[in-house]
Amino acid sequence: MLSKIKEALICLRAGRVTLPYPFVPLKAPPRFRGRPTIDGAKCIGCGACAEVCPPRLIEVNDAASTRTVELNYSRCTYCARCQEICPTGAMTCTEDFEMATADRKNLTVSVQLDMVHCETCGKAFMTKRMLDKMLTEFCPPWMNKKIDVPKWLWQCPQCRLDKTGSVIEGSIKNG
Ligand code: SF4
Ligand code: SF4
Repeated sequence: MLSKIKEALICLRAGRVTLPYPFVPLKAPPRFRGRPTIDGAKCIGCGACAEVCPPRLIEVNDAASTRTVELNYSRCTYCARCQEICPTGAMTCTEDFEMATADRKNLTVSVQLDMVHCETCGKAFMTKRMLDKMLTEFCPPWMNKKIDVPKWLWQCPQCRLDKTGSVIEGSIKNG
């Protein structure tokens, strides 16, 4: 009995310890990791985020001349691996933690990007933004991008492989 009275006194002294949420809006604390989102202006469509997402919520799909990066955060664990790996800062975890919705479509964000076609076979193989980033970051400013950049950059991986294979085959035949 005495222990119960003691417990009641402790509770009374502590005062109210719960928040009136959801009747009063609740702001997440600083650096809270919440719902991820993609900045369409920054995304280059590299697909790195899709590779590291543990529950596989990010899909990268190519159709004709367009690549779509789609994030469905219905089962997101807020691990932020997608944010850490993104090379352009396009993927960020917001402070939003409220996921309740009547329509599951509201839990999806997507970005569509134009693709580059292979100069040999015509297949779309990477996004224009990826190519631009490679040209900007790996080519020195004095380089004439139209003339000096290796031709294979505009070829899909399969065509590069085919060409490399025939060069190796030729050099083996020629001794
Ligand atoms: S925060 Fe984690 S689980 Fe959520 S989309 Fe990014 S990688 Fe996937
Ligand atoms: S969000 Fe970032 S990691 Fe994901 S496809 Fe776009 S640029 Fe790549």
